[in-house]
Order: sequence, then structure tokens, then C-alpha cells
Amino acid sequence: MALIVQKYGGTSVGSIERIEAVAAKVAAVRDRGDQVVVVVSAMSGETNRLIALAQEISEFPSSREMDVLLSTGEQVTIALLSMALHKLGCPARSYTGGQVRILTDSAFSKARILDIDGAPVQADLDAGKVVVVAGFQGVNEAGNITTLGRGGSDTTAVAMAAALKADECQIFTDVDGVYTTDPRVEPKARKLDKITFEEMLEMASLGSKVLQIRAVEFAGKYNVPLRVLSSFEEGDGTLITFEEDDMEQAKISGIAFSRDEAKLTILGVPDQPGVAYSILGPVSGANIEVDMIVQNIAKDETTDFTFTVHRNDYHKALELLHETAEVVGAREVIGTENIVKISLVGVGMRSHAGIASKMFETLAQEGINIQMISTSEIKISVVVDQKYLELGVRALHDAFELSAPVS
Ligand code: ASP
Ligand code: MG
Repeated sequence: MALIVQKYGGTSVGSIERIEAVAAKVAAVRDRGDQVVVVVSAMSGETNRLIALAQEISEFPSSREMDVLLSTGEQVTIALLSMALHKLGCPARSYTGGQVRILTDSAFSKARILDIDGAPVQADLDAGKVVVVAGFQGVNEAGNITTLGRGGSDTTAVAMAAALKADECQIFTDVDGVYTTDPRVEPKARKLDKITFEEMLEMASLGSKVLQIRAVEFAGKYNVPLRVLSSFEEGDGTLITFEEDDMEQAKISGIAFSRDEAKLTILGVPDQPGVAYSILGPVSGANIEVDMIVQNIAKDETTDFTFTVHRNDYHKALELLHETAEVVGAREVIGTENIVKISLVGVGMRSHAGIASKMFETLAQEGINIQMISTSEIKISVVVDQKYLELGVRALHDAFELSAPVS
């Protein structure tokens, strides 16, 4: 007998028909003798609808009341799904986050889970019931309702799985797994059978939005095997797990990219101790996250300094940089929003040399100019002009033989 946590996202529970289809899938797992905890999101569009209602009243509603409001979306789904399970003759009980006692900190709208008491849920499971838990919500020490941030139901599912020491946490969604890259950019992208937590974190943080990043971090930390699979199609999806010796050692597992980048350069800064701090200090002080950083070798006692930020932060960062330029006596400030970041991700990189040079060679052959480069143990990223995104991703996908073998 296995204990499985299943999570169904908004589209998977977007209508009564779909909720009934989920109930049938869940009941089938219980019928084969396994224990099931189901975590559900709000019905698709519901969270956005609730946000819009609040916005009609106030541009800055109280964050406590916002969480009270948004948590209702998931509460609707748990009740309906439990009713649908009852209709199939399957015993089931719904719980809000507070009822399971998913204890969180008090950061409304982005709370972190501190503790879950798995015992009452386990008692229900042992009594043969399916347990249905509202995703995305918890309760703080004082009993206030909190929410975990958009996409937070993924994290609820992983946290439940960790607390119950589940055999697997299955995330059912509208895609059938994790792909080598976004199939909308490269139609030859292939579904991966397995990927490591580390790689998935890189893929997720670089913009392949299959799972909430926090959920992947949590799963890696507590060693919860995580599987992404489709609600609508049969298939084994993609298993996110630890690196194993027998894991097919591809050099590269996938290509991630991000269109949300912007680049800023400050030219002719006096080259002296404290330069980087005087430039980046104000930026981080304004809560702007800096991604890549490049400082040139000094020439004539001055240097150039370039960094990237999220596109949403571009104008603010540019403003700050102009102020800094005045203070430190820099020559000029320039910037552009017309850039993207393309990254090769793979744990196989650790044991294979020459990945970077092959990447640069491939881009050169396509006439794509690389503006910045950064590397980590399992990732190589380049910044290029946004007009080369599709071309670059496809060329790299071919060069590293990521496409499905033609049979
Ligand atoms: N309903 C919430 C959202 O839309 C949480 C979730 O679906 O994971 O972000
Ligand atoms: Mg989601």
C-alpha cells in the first residue's frame, strides 16, 4: 500500500465535469488499495476574479483581508470535490489549510509553511477515507488565515507529502510533464522522463513555469519524489528526483530562457575599491534583484560595469544608476530592455568538458552575438538580443541533440 499526495491545479478543477473527472481518478487510486490525499487549487480564473473584486474597492486592500478573501477559492473546490467523491461511494473529508493546521509565518500573501500536524490526516487515511485539502493556504500562530503566494497549492502538496512521508507527490496539471524546452518555441522539444531537483530549480527559476519554485525547493529539501503529469492524458509524466547513478547521463537536460530581462551599463567609472558596492548597493537597497554582473578590466583608471535585472525593475534601476553616476563621476549610463537570457541546464555538465565552447560555437554559426555570459556548476547562461531567442534556442536544441529520436 502506498501513500500518494495528488495535487490538481485550477484548470483540472475548472468546472463541475472536471471536478467529477478528478473524483473518478482519485477514487480509482483508493480502490486499488492506496491511501490518497488530494490538494486542490481554486477553480480556474477564481483567484483572479477575487483579486479583481478587491481592486474594485481599494487599490491597496489590507493584506490580512486579502488572504481571507483569496482562501475562499480553494475552500469551494475542496467541498465540491468531496461531494463528487461521496457520489461515487468514496468516503472523503475536506479540510481547509487552517483545519489541517498548516502552520505558517505571518507574511500575508507570501507566507511560508512552518509546520504541519500530519496525525489527524493520517487517522482519516487509516480509516479508509480520502482526505481533500485546500491548497495555497495556512494559518499563523494567532489563527489568521494566510496564503502562500500564486501557485502555492504546489507547495501545499509537497509539504503535505513531506509531513506524511508520502511515497510520491503527483502534481496534475495541463501539461504532461517537463520538457527539454518550451514546445511553443521549439516544437521538437521532448518530454523528460526524469530530471533532478537541482535541474528543475534552474528550469523553474529560468521561466519554465510548470511548478512553483518553492515547491521544488521544499521537495528537494525533504526528499519528496515529485511527479508532474497531465490531468487530461494518460502517461507517466516527469519524475523529479535525486541524481542517481543509473540516470541517463545526458550532457544537457534542457534549455531554459527568460524574456523578462534588462541590461544596464555604467561607463567610465573610476576604478577603485568600493566601486561595485557604490553601484549595486543602492540597487539592492531598492529591493531590486541583480542577476548577471560583469566588470571590465580597467583602462585609463576607469572601468565599465554591466548588470541585468528583471524587466519590471528596469526603469527604477536606470534612475538609480543615473544618480550613482553623478556621485561617483562616471562618464555615461546606458541600458536596454531588448535582451533575453538563454541557459543550458544539466547535471551532466559536471562530468563533460567543452559544453560552453560548443554553446558559443553554435551561437556563432547562427551569427548571434553574445553580450554576457555566466556559469554555474550545472548551468551556462548567455544574454543575447531578444530577436535571437527562437533561433538560439532551436539551434542549441539541435546542437545538443535534445529532440526526440525519429522513429
Ligand atoms: N489559486 C492560487 C493561484 O491561482 C493558488 C494555486 O492555484 O496554486 O495562484
Ligand atoms: Mg500552478
